[in-house]
Amino acid sequence: MRIYEFSRKHNVPSKEILHFLQNAGFDIKSHMSVLNQKAIDLLLGHVKEMPTTAKKKVAQKKVSPVVKKSPKKQAVVSEEFPKPIADIYQEVPKEPIAHPKEIIIESMSLADFAQRTEKPVNELIVTLLKMGIVATKNQILLKDVVARLAEQLGISTAKPRVEKAPTFKDIEVKEGVFKERPPVVVVLGHVDHGKTTLLDYIRKTKVAAKEKGGITQHLGAYEVKVKQGNIIFLDTPGHEAFYKIRGRGVGVADIAVLIIAADDGVMPQTVEAINHAKVAGIPIVVAINKVDKVEASRVDVVKQSLVQYDLLPEEWGGDVIVVPISAKFGQGVDHLFEMIVLQSQLMELKAEISGLAKGYVLESKPEKGLGPVATLICQHGRLKIGDYFVCGKTGGRVNSLIDSFSKKIKEVGPYIPVQVAGFDALAEVGDLFEVVSKEEYRKTKSRAVERKPVLLVEGALNLLIKADTNSSKEALLGAIAKLGRKLEKEFNIIYAGVGDVTESDVVLAANTGASIFAFYVKLEHNALLLTQRYAVTIQTFDVIYKLLESLEEFVEKHKKVKKVLVKVGEAVVRKVFDIKGIGVIAGCYVREGRFSRDGTVVIWRGKQKIGSGSIKSLQRERRPVKEVHAGFECGFLVDDFTDWAIDDRVECFLKIPESQKKS
Ligand code: GDP
Repeated sequence: MRIYEFSRKHNVPSKEILHFLQNAGFDIKSHMSVLNQKAIDLLLGHVKEMPTTAKKKVAQKKVSPVVKKSPKKQAVVSEEFPKPIADIYQEVPKEPIAHPKEIIIESMSLADFAQRTEKPVNELIVTLLKMGIVATKNQILLKDVVARLAEQLGISTAKPRVEKAPTFKDIEVKEGVFKERPPVVVVLGHVDHGKTTLLDYIRKTKVAAKEKGGITQHLGAYEVKVKQGNIIFLDTPGHEAFYKIRGRGVGVADIAVLIIAADDGVMPQTVEAINHAKVAGIPIVVAINKVDKVEASRVDVVKQSLVQYDLLPEEWGGDVIVVPISAKFGQGVDHLFEMIVLQSQLMELKAEISGLAKGYVLESKPEKGLGPVATLICQHGRLKIGDYFVCGKTGGRVNSLIDSFSKKIKEVGPYIPVQVAGFDALAEVGDLFEVVSKEEYRKTKSRAVERKPVLLVEGALNLLIKADTNSSKEALLGAIAKLGRKLEKEFNIIYAGVGDVTESDVVLAANTGASIFAFYVKLEHNALLLTQRYAVTIQTFDVIYKLLESLEEFVEKHKKVKKVLVKVGEAVVRKVFDIKGIGVIAGCYVREGRFSRDGTVVIWRGKQKIGSGSIKSLQRERRPVKEVHAGFECGFLVDDFTDWAIDDRVECFLKIPESQKKS
């Protein structure tokens, strides 16, 4: 029987059993360790005196400021593993040794140990033998053996210098009411190894929306209730929230589930994920997936390959929990939950539940009728309707809170995903959200986000992008940049935003000659009318590759047509407006042909040509327009030309396809 099985049977926390047996002198490593009869007998005698899991759950008390403890690393024995361990993870710098007699505790070959400590190999082999370990020169010694060997030889030791990013959870919260909290879990792994399938399976089978009387809505995170406790799974596209928040040197996840397909084994993104989890300082639970489609022996092969990344499975004496699963058919998933809860119990996760709320944005988007909203996970405090907050470059006042079951709530404690409305502008994924005083909020409001100034690039295709979420926007921009490089064509993104296409988007596109490419969003009715009025091209898509294909066609069309410059209209200046912050506008009367906002102009004073340039903004009755025909008045700005005078004559030229040129 293993510790966790005993724990379940007798309703005693694994941690208590561990402590009890370790104190009694048993060499017990973790909750996966197998109990011998002697240990079981001893435990049975004491079980009544131990706290039960049920009692533990309701415990709510004032505690010391320690918010998170790392799980205790357990001993590892290397001699059972003749396989060499390659370089361990890259982010642990192997610094030159400051003092030759000091050694950094990390896994290394015996030969390396000899070299670093300037000890003869033979002496090391003999010392290890005395310790009961048979080793050869090229044998890899795991960290624990390195430490013990160093101790035997009287060599001082140092821990590897991993730059541990400061985590938000490390912020000391000195006072308040602390309560146990569920772990936040991120599922990481190589593409196609089954992250989505696992999360879909969990969502379908474990998130009991009906019990709560609502429909679950996508919040970028969801809470799963299992027999042993609750777990919060991060469910953002590409785990954007995890990586973005990590990128800022803080953490939102407590445990990483590393998913590895049994048929593929460890792949580059698996290693990347291992590194991310290690730098974040969070334990990894390995799920070996797709066991339904492979021979049982593949599981051991994958486990073997983990050893070289310093992930030694528990059943081999290490501290990494490995669970074989089939995400597609659900096999082993309950066991995975159980292991996650056990791991989290060892971590003694707590949160302060009464102070001002602080947390992170997991997702953000505009919501009809609510304006910009964001999903948050608060890590401390209580968030209430009416609270003022700052969040990245924006802020606001909470005017509605909606939980993952689409229920409106008035306040929410930490570690419950919630959608918050009341933002002044869209927040970014990964932004820190903090409740502040009204005054502090006011101060930040003056720093509100603005659209970037429009910059037109000669010869580039101007695009205005709208997407459904920040993450699809980012994905689109990345794909468009890549396509641009492939086609050797510059795309000029006038504006990229999240949400339905609005009137102001169309006006911006009209003013800048941009085409609108909209992804998975709708076109507001009035915006549609405006696209017709200003002849703005707009295309909507719900699949990224279709959008890219269409862009490619667009570029091709643009390339093939040979264009010639022809005069299309003439106007005379009637008024000059010098408007601060905008420029000098020529108010003209078009007396023949037409003026187009895509045109270039030549300016004449009497018989003298006094300037030229391209039209920057063409307006009629203060509205941007595409063209103005003879008999009407208009106003426009011209690039690099401001020296207008009444009665100047202006000719408008357009590049038109050669085929359209009237001879
Ligand atoms: P992701 O890229 O990591 O999110 O991987 P997906 O969840 O999209 O899975 C990639 C492919 O593997 C899909 O075709 C899944 O149906 C398949 N797959 C995922 N889990 C399993 C599993 O447990 N067994 C089998 N046979 N196929 C699986």
